[in-house]
Order: sequence, then structure tokens, then C-alpha cells
Amino acid sequence: MRPAALDPLFAPLTSLKGIGPKLERPFARLLGREAPRVVDLLFHLPSGFVDRRARPTLAEAIPDTDVTVEIRVDGHQPPPPGRRAPHRTYVSDATGDLVLVFFNMDATVLERMLPVGSTRWLCGRIALYDGMRQMAHPDRILDEAGLARLPPIEPVYPLVEGLAAGQVRRAMEAALARILDLAEMLPAQLVAAQGWPSFRQALHAVHKPQGLNDIAVTGLPWQRLAFEELLAHQLTLALTRAHQIEAGGRASRGDGALVERLRGTLPFRLTQAQEEAVRAIREDIAAEKRMLRLLQGDVGSGKTVVALMAAACVMETGRQAALMAPTEVLARQHQETIAPLAARAGIEVALLTGREKGRARQAILDRLRTGEIGLLMGTHALIQPDVAFKDLALAIVDEQHRFGVEQRLTLARKGAAADMLLMTATPIPRTLVLTLFGDMAISELREKPPGRQKIDTRSVSLDRLEDVVEAAGRAIAAGAQAYWICPLVEESDLSDLAAATDRHEALKARFGAAVDLVHGKMSGADKDAAMARFASGEARILVATTVVEVGVNVPNATLMVIEHAERFGLAQLHQLRGRVGRGEKASTCLLLYKAPLGETAKARLAMLRASEDGFAIAEEDLRLRGEGDVLGTRQSGFPGFALARLELHSALLPEARATAAALLARDEGLTSEDSAPLRALLYLHGRDAAMRFLAAG
Ligand code: ADP
Ligand code: MG
Repeated sequence: MRPAALDPLFAPLTSLKGIGPKLERPFARLLGREAPRVVDLLFHLPSGFVDRRARPTLAEAIPDTDVTVEIRVDGHQPPPPGRRAPHRTYVSDATGDLVLVFFNMDATVLERMLPVGSTRWLCGRIALYDGMRQMAHPDRILDEAGLARLPPIEPVYPLVEGLAAGQVRRAMEAALARILDLAEMLPAQLVAAQGWPSFRQALHAVHKPQGLNDIAVTGLPWQRLAFEELLAHQLTLALTRAHQIEAGGRASRGDGALVERLRGTLPFRLTQAQEEAVRAIREDIAAEKRMLRLLQGDVGSGKTVVALMAAACVMETGRQAALMAPTEVLARQHQETIAPLAARAGIEVALLTGREKGRARQAILDRLRTGEIGLLMGTHALIQPDVAFKDLALAIVDEQHRFGVEQRLTLARKGAAADMLLMTATPIPRTLVLTLFGDMAISELREKPPGRQKIDTRSVSLDRLEDVVEAAGRAIAAGAQAYWICPLVEESDLSDLAAATDRHEALKARFGAAVDLVHGKMSGADKDAAMARFASGEARILVATTVVEVGVNVPNATLMVIEHAERFGLAQLHQLRGRVGRGEKASTCLLLYKAPLGETAKARLAMLRASEDGFAIAEEDLRLRGEGDVLGTRQSGFPGFALARLELHSALLPEARATAAALLARDEGLTSEDSAPLRALLYLHGRDAAMRFLAAG
């Protein structure tokens, strides 16, 4: 089915020269895909760039900026034998001196790279150290010939442990060579009107920029790529929707008894917002039409309970529901929230993840097939082929953006015309909902359950770290617990890990064994064990990288410390903060920042202090991102999109939507010869699975 012209792009990454099985593993982690393909690498767009065009003299060089300087080598000073001092190399130009500093490097190698008396070009950052100019480990040491080959603007890519920047650059070079001239996939008129380059030119421009417009997220090349992805998304939405309407739905109309019993046994009253969501869902489920509804609400707004009520609606008619979460931790969390509530109402639920094995797993599958289990919760394990329901009528998907369309459809297809409820704790700004989700029905939980206290949010300079440590000490002495989130370090999760490990060591030295650590490199089981120790109160301070799951619920945790808060996006800070303020006790969130703050960072922290409304924060986040730092700080992509940055490309959305509608009006199934380029587009942007499913009925 795949157009042959795309074959070179879909070849395994290991087919590129220089990438063997050993490198495949780190690339798999980098690209978030088991067996990465050439196209996955090509769509790994830069997170920033270094402008190598700045060629100041030493006197002109601005400290802490990237510069390329021409110098003469004056002399070497290797460390005295047996000492761990660095190797120093003295260099100069007509305007001043510079000391190069190298740790753990062989003197003979350095003396060969930098012969005394020679002229060299150095790329790197100059720091002032006791009034002396110093450059530690220059990025590049070049002679004339090397300088001639130096790209004027060098893309910087996010990295993972085990991959060096040079390896990614070389692989990218090889991948770019694979792109053939494809037939134009977008309507020619549109491309001409927008002045967009071709697919091939666009990728070359972004990865090998000649000017800043080539690599800018808002520049024409990136815009074109983003538009392709948005169009593919819109086409998929429209195709799926048309198919669903065609396939029809099933009415699940019960007598309301189970829902009422559940409501009666809940230890709390549903909020107005929850009631409204339940009412809308119930109505959809009772209708002939197939439901496709998105339930949005901040962490802790009570989505899980709504999901349970929805499940009760279909169980009333003897049918079943499934709730799928993207991670083990989240699935278990659902189990913990739901199981006790369900037990009181006499609802049979079960949990199925990769960890249920052998006989235990078989028992669940048996009870599922007989219909004994009314609600099955779990992870991707739910969509394994041998998981069969007696009669699945409702598929609920939590953190929906973390699943592909085909995974969601696979779950739904375990039932006949099953209704679908998608949930997300990442509120999507109103301005984007319609264009992103088309006419999907939306329920919002804007109101928090009662009894929640406002979280006292403050920003604190990192200079006052010691005070913050004291505050953490007071909190745990008073019986509370604290999260300590470590910074996102640019470019490498290895350094994230180092930062968290260091903080963990420092806090442990102070507070002893009560301090625990959780990070992304730990196995699922170890992560869960650490979370469990924290949830049980055995650990009092949990140092974590941002892996702490969004939904994690530890009501006794009342202090959230976020280091280098200025490096996080607004929405992300809000999500992190949402892990406290879950019990009756007042909670505090301390945003540690490194002074001085830029304007955007200042506005972000101020917004966070002022509001706890995830929807309002999402709107503001979108506005701030659209305004500021086009490149420079790490931009986390928008959920589900590899190329499009919605904060910067949202202006393209109406056009993508209109184009999709026009194309489908011409050829509703995209099956004609004329639509071949569009089918290629769907393949290229990983949206082909939806089509395959549609074809299969
Ligand atoms: P979400 O899934 O949106 O993150 P949950 O459904 O897990 O939120 O709810 C968070 C906590 O609040 C749970 O412990 C849940 O039992 C409780 N909760 C939910 N709804 C209410 C309510 N109306 N009143 C009081 N507590 C509630
Ligand atoms: Mg939840």
C-alpha cells in the first residue's frame, strides 16, 4: 500500500552508513520508537541553533555567547604529574589573551591539535574567570580548511544518553541524502501562494540552514512541514468521523439503577461540572449515534470518577467498558481511585497491565469473556489480540494524546460500534479545540471538587536555596511530604539525571533515608516501588525528574519545589504543581528560578502565582509562546505532533481544515488516482493507520 517513492524514507535507520545495531538503541530512545526509520530522524527537528557567523576579536567577544575566534597558540601548560588539574593552553590575538582549559585530556593530543605558533579557529563560549578570558573545551578547533567547511548556522538537536551531537549530525547528513524528489503532496496553488519550498528543500533548509529564516520555527520551510502534518491530521479526523457516522452506533439505554446506586455510595457529592459531564455522556451513550467525546479537566478535577459513572451507564445494560492509560503508574492510580468506589456499588472491575501474567492474567481474560468484569482498566496490555470482551460498549482513553489513532481504534474495535470517551489533563485552549478536534463533543471540568485549598505559589531565587531546604525540613518535621522536581537540563536527559542524583545526595546527607529518588532511567518496577514508598509515607521527600506522572495522587504531599522553574513551560509548571493541594491541608509550591529572569519567564511565573485555572493558564501559555522565544528555550512540541508547534503554527490550522474539507469533497475516501499524493502525505506523517482501519471496516 505504501507508495514506492517513500521506501527510502521508511527504511530502518540502521540502513544508513555508520549506524549499526549498537547505535540503534540510543537512536530508538531519542526518536521514541522501537525500530526507528529514516523518516523519524528527518522529523527530529532542531531545538535551537548556534550561529557560527559571529567572528569577533577577543576584545569584542561577548562573554557567554557562541563565538568563533581566530587565535595564535602561545604555549601549553600540562597539569603537574599526578595532579587532577586541567591542561591549560595559552592563546591570543592582536586584541587580547585567552586561556583554554581541558580536563582529562592527553597533553600530546592537545599539542598536536594546537601546535605552538600556529593559527587556529575556535568555536565556543568565552567566560570571564577572575577577570581572565577562559574557554573550557572549545566545541571546535579548526584550521583554515576546517573553517571553510564550517556550516554558518549549526542546528542543535535534543539528545539522549549515549548519543553525541556529532553522531546525530552525521546520521542526519546521510538521511537527507535519501530524500528523493517526491511528487508535490500539497495543492500546487497553495504552495505557490504561500511561497513554500518543496518537501525536500524544506527538510534540507531546516537541517542545513544557510540563514536564520531557514531554521526558524516560523520560517517558510518549517511552516510547510508543519502544514503537511496539520493537513494529514485534519484529513484523518474527517475520514474517521465520516466512517463513524457511516458505521453507526448502538444505543445503551439502562434503567438508571446502577448509576443511582453508584452515586449513592460515593463518599462525596459530584460537583456541578461532573454532573453536567455525566449527563452529557449518558445522553450520548443512550443515543443511536456513536459517541466521540473529549473530557478535559485539570489533574484532580475528578475525571476518573466521571469515567466510572460512564462505565456504569453501559454496565446497566449488561455491557462492558474499558479504561486505557498510557503508563503503568497511571493505570494503577485509576485502579486505586476506582476499585473502592466500585466495590461499594457492587461493580466488578479489574486491572490488566504488562505485569499481570500467567494464571492471574488468564483468570482476568476468562472473567472478561464471560462478562463478569464490567470495567477493565489497564495499559496498552488491553489492546493485545487475545483480550476479548463479552460485549464492550464504551472505550475510555486517558491522556488520549499519548496514544496513536490506531491504538484508540484497536481498543474501540474490541466492541461493536463502541462509544469512545477521550480524557486529557492538558487543557487545550478554546481557540484551538474546534480546529484541532473538529466537531468532537467536549466536556470540561473547570470546577475542582470542594475542600481543595488554594496552593500558595511563590517564586524564590536560587540564591535562597538554603532557605528552601530549611522549609522542606520544617514540612517533613511537621509530618508532611514534599516533591522536589529537578531541572530540565537542555539537550540531554543524562544531565537531567545528574542534577536529580546530586540533589538527592545533598538532601539525603541532610535528612537521611527519608529522601527518595525517581527518574526516567529507572525500570517501571523500580519507579513504581519508589512511588509506592512515597505514597505510603515511608519516603518523605521525593526527588524527581519530570517523570513523576501527571496523575500521581499523594494527598499528604503539601510542598512542591521546582528547581529552575524558568526552564519549564507554563502548562508543565501547572501540571507539576497539581501534584500538591490534593488533601485538606494547605499546600505550597516554590518556584526556584535563576536570576535574572527574561520577560517571558517573568510573565510565566507571575501567571502561575495568580491562577490555578488550567484552562486560563493554557490560553496564556499559548499567547506567551506565540510571542516570545521562537527558538532558544526548549520548545516542547504539542501533544501528538512531531513538526507542528501549535503556539507558532496555529495560524495555519484554519487553512489546513479548509484544505482537508475541499480535498475530501472531491474524493471522499481519497481512493482515486488524483489522491495518490495525499495518501503519500498520510503515510509520511504516520496517519496511514487510520486509513487502513477504515478500509478494513
Ligand atoms: P483526575 O482523574 O481528574 O485527575 P480524580 O478523578 O482522580 O481526578 O480525582 C482526584 C481525587 O478527588 C480522587 O481521590 C477522587 O476520589 C476525588 N474526587 C473526585 N470527585 C470528587 C468530588 N466531587 N468531591 C470530592 N472528592 C472528589
Ligand atoms: Mg486521572
